[in-house]
Amino acid sequence: MSSASHIVCPHCGAINRIPGDRLTDAPKCGKCHGALFTGHPLALDDDNFQRHLARNDIPLLVDFWAPWCGPCKMMAPAYEQAAAQLEPHIRVAKLNTEVAQAIAAQYQIRSIPTLALFRDGKEIARQPGAMGAADIVRWATSHS
Ligand SMILES: [Zn+2]
Repeated sequence: MSSASHIVCPHCGAINRIPGDRLTDAPKCGKCHGALFTGHPLALDDDNFQRHLARNDIPLLVDFWAPWCGPCKMMAPAYEQAAAQLEPHIRVAKLNTEVAQAIAAQYQIRSIPTLALFRDGKEIARQPGAMGAADIVRWATSHS
């Protein structure tokens, strides 16, 4: 793979252009020098959701969750494990539907947790309900 990917920095939001063969080489942000992939889900909100949705060349996986949701809390460790495995080929993120209510409404999130996979700003797959780490990785990989 030699083509370059645009990757939005999870720390400062800068758009980095990373050659394809450098994606797995622990790339750092050219602006803030933070790691572009931390292996942990990135918290999205009203301020950064659109940018990560529209400006990443890699797929974006979003866990729509809420603090009061028991199954969401149960899935959180599995989602952490999945993030470590899916990055840097998929940007793994989570969105608190209590905080970013407008986004949850826009995507008509009716039950949580719901996983949604986006590419080039468009939703390409959705899966409601909690899953284990292996199932999350398998599901996201098969749709991306
Ligand atoms: Zn940065």
